[in-house]
Amino acid sequence: MYDSIVIGAGAAGSTVARKLAEEGKRKVLVIEKRSHIGGNCYDKLDRHGIMIHEYGPHIFHTNEEEVYTFLSRFTDWHLFGHEVVANVHGELIPVPFNLNTLHKVYGKEKADELEEILIREYGEGSRVPIMQLRENPNPEIKAIADYVYENIFLHYTMKQWGQTPEEISPEVTARVPVLISHDNRYFQDKYQGMPKDGYTAMFEKMLDHPDITVKMGTDCKDHLTFSEDKVLFEGEEFTGEVIYTGAIDELFSYEYGHLPYRSLNFKFEHYDKESYQGRSVVNYTVSEDFTRITEFKYLTRQEKTDGTTIVKEYSFAYTGAEGEIPYYAVINDENNALYQKYAKRVQPLDNVYLLGRLAEYKYYNIDAIVKKALQLADTIRR
Ligand code: FAD
Ligand code: UDP
Repeated sequence: MYDSIVIGAGAAGSTVARKLAEEGKRKVLVIEKRSHIGGNCYDKLDRHGIMIHEYGPHIFHTNEEEVYTFLSRFTDWHLFGHEVVANVHGELIPVPFNLNTLHKVYGKEKADELEEILIREYGEGSRVPIMQLRENPNPEIKAIADYVYENIFLHYTMKQWGQTPEEISPEVTARVPVLISHDNRYFQDKYQGMPKDGYTAMFEKMLDHPDITVKMGTDCKDHLTFSEDKVLFEGEEFTGEVIYTGAIDELFSYEYGHLPYRSLNFKFEHYDKESYQGRSVVNYTVSEDFTRITEFKYLTRQEKTDGTTIVKEYSFAYTGAEGEIPYYAVINDENNALYQKYAKRVQPLDNVYLLGRLAEYKYYNIDAIVKKALQLADTIRR
């Protein structure tokens, strides 16, 4: 009855399902265990009519024309340059730390001098990871690096990961480099913003195809069995493609133990006033137990709202307890080795593909996983 089965209706699963149905001419079954599509990009109106992101704020950004063109078939956009500030002892400074931040922190005369030194050292427009900046032997640059490390990275990273910036993979802090420019945007990508009617609406359109069937509220393990050399669907061998976008350790019942993740608690608050913080995102980099506050109306550009809704994010170590969601893979050599052990389990199954943040145990942004899904569908079709 089905040519392909996709497990998970997030960005990865929805994209690959659409491409397989449309270009691969497959009849695709999408199995999703939650009661909604969209995965962690899921958004909805809260009871005050304000569009919120249930699993944390998501800002789309990409330099990939192919990804932007593909997604634009299913949505119009509010395009804008996303800006973030850090609250440092009550003062709001632009993040990533850039030359404007330098001026705010040091005052004009000293900042002009330091700006010249930074440009001479790294070149205008460059992006320097904090861990690299800290290694610079020039005492003036070292002092800037120490300021940035202490006031932007150390405490925030401790809250987010329970570890210092030295202890986590350097790629993680390198996502928010020091910018040798006056660009206040959080991302420097060509396209950035929000799907006009939200992510859920965009993925609904993507999955709306005569050859795609979506079964929600269904755990794949109730219908599929992954044995050593074959996949069974409803007890019979299934030889079509199976694309799995869930957590790989869960698929094999945590046989080798849990893959470490960070999880999040989202505390939503509604206020009967026009504005809470007057902007979309404030990172709390030296104080508070939460990492950041997002005020949704500024992110989604919702025009008329009754009051305003915010969310505070509290990070903690995922334990696998009922109701906890694995959000961020804790990437290091040991955990990667454990992941590989699980991934090996599907290697003999040549019709099974692992795709997505959970199944690949990677730190993908939306655009990266959409790109990967488009490529996978192309590979499968050939
Ligand atoms: P998911 O969205 O996790 O989808 C996997 C789906 O599979 C889920 O719906 C799940 O229910 C389903 N599933 C799992 N197991 C089973 C099973 N056994 N049976 C059936 N279904 C199953 N990216 C950006 O580009 N910009 C951002 O601003 C941004 N912000 C983020 C903020 C937070 C707090 C987090 C955690 C991530 C953020 N990301 C952001 C990353 C973004 O969420 C991911 O890139 C994207 O959601 C990955 O999609 P996915 O399909 O791989 O995974
Ligand atoms: N980070 C930080 N302070 C900030 C912003 C980011 O220390 O103000 C560090 C932190 O370790 C974080 C990483 O940089 O986990 C990546 O930040 P990003 O905003 O990309 O995280 P995400 O949006 O994926 O949660």
